Amino acid sequence: MELLKQKIIDSAEVLPGGVLKVDSFLNHQIDVTFVSKLAEEWYRLFKEERITKILTIESAGIGLASITALLFKVPVVYAKKTRNAALGDEYLSTKVISYTHGQSYDVFLAKNLINKDDRILILDDFLANGSALKVLIQLAEMGGAEVVGTTVAIEKSYLGGGDDIRALGYRLESLVKIKELNDKEIAFED
Ligand code: 5GP
Repeated sequence: MELLKQKIIDSAEVLPGGVLKVDSFLNHQIDVTFVSKLAEEWYRLFKEERITKILTIESAGIGLASITALLFKVPVVYAKKTRNAALGDEYLSTKVISYTHGQSYDVFLAKNLINKDDRILILDDFLANGSALKVLIQLAEMGGAEVVGTTVAIEKSYLGGGDDIRALGYRLESLVKIKELNDKEIAFED
């Protein structure tokens, strides 16, 4: 998606460790008008899939998923990184390895929010090694739902996480793919 490539070129910063800082429009500060263009593209890609829910992970995914959900007219469910009292005893849980912090932590999803009639679109901001998307797939399937698509704004294709997910047979659509990232260059796939 050319619009997103240009926005990354104009506004993103490469931090040590290959972390792309997109805090001015995608994380932290969300440029809602810009993200609504990404949402239109996600809607175009998946509108035939009879999506019933969009599943994401807190926190960066929530804003993107919510803006997109307005077009699909479906709820957003997000995996929580903390288990508070409101979650109750009936929940699904699994472990995710954080790309940005390098540690593993548990994520939680109330059992009653996803069921066997759901056709789930999984959506997140980034795909790096694929841990977050795989965990979301696992949670959806633990709840008995069908994952009909997975999507991210930015795939770091040089890390191979996206290839793993495609090899498992899931549809994965990335709005842009970065094939090389260093302090001098952000190289995109065509
Ligand atoms: P994965 O689980 O695929 O290794 O990493 C994806 C998760 O890590 C996303 O939920 C995202 O929040 C975070 N992430 C991965 N790479 C980057 C990056 O370059 N910049 C930012 N801001 N977040 C990233």
